[in-house]
Amino acid sequence: MSVSIDFSDLIAAFGQSTCSTHFFIDINESTLIRIDESKDTNAQTKIHQMEKSKLYLKIPMWESKDDELIIETFMYETENNVFEDIPSETLDRENGFQQFHDLVASHPHLKKQWVEYRSAAMRNRILSWLCDNNIELANQQLIPTIEIKELTAEEIVRLPDEIKDFKPYACLRCHNKTGMNTRIFSINVSPENRLIEQETHRIMKEQFGVSHHGGWSGGDQEFLTASRCPRCGCEKIFWDY
Ligand SMILES: [Zn+2]
Repeated sequence: MSVSIDFSDLIAAFGQSTCSTHFFIDINESTLIRIDESKDTNAQTKIHQMEKSKLYLKIPMWESKDDELIIETFMYETENNVFEDIPSETLDRENGFQQFHDLVASHPHLKKQWVEYRSAAMRNRILSWLCDNNIELANQQLIPTIEIKELTAEEIVRLPDEIKDFKPYACLRCHNKTGMNTRIFSINVSPENRLIEQETHRIMKEQFGVSHHGGWSGGDQEFLTASRCPRCGCEKIFWDY
């Protein structure tokens, strides 16, 4: 289904959705509908009807538990030493999150990083949600153009050992362990949302005849891996070092 809603409006609605403020996409009209329980006495009835109807799609809500999850990955990925004072085991308690927010608030550079990190996470969440609900936003490029290139045997030899030594080990269907080929591809994006995953899958199938691939992240460079069992033709292969 294609709807002509601006992605920035959708993101804004996602950010403003709460337990009492609800947003729906009106699929036929390509509009956003907002329902405020505090302002609308019929809110519950409307929400209930719209949730049952196929003509409307309720926009999800970003919850505090979503923040809790990404705080952990943010702390891990930024590896900033100001976080050393917060042991990760305290994070599941309210206290730990308060400590995190206090720290971030007192470090402007970190605060900027956190705001960007959080908005990227929200954006990826909504893109995945659109993909799961089979909704396309008309005339909007929501993900970068994906470029995938298969590495030659010479290029594979020049890769760092940690990827070069990662090899197809056994077929997950027939358990064969011999004769499996190794194909490695470079890709210019990381699989941060399902729209990117879906497009990657399409390109791999159309350009390279691969219907199942794995991924390998080498810091700055992402790679895709593929193989096929010569005995049964299965592409689902267990890779190992
Ligand atoms: Zn097999």
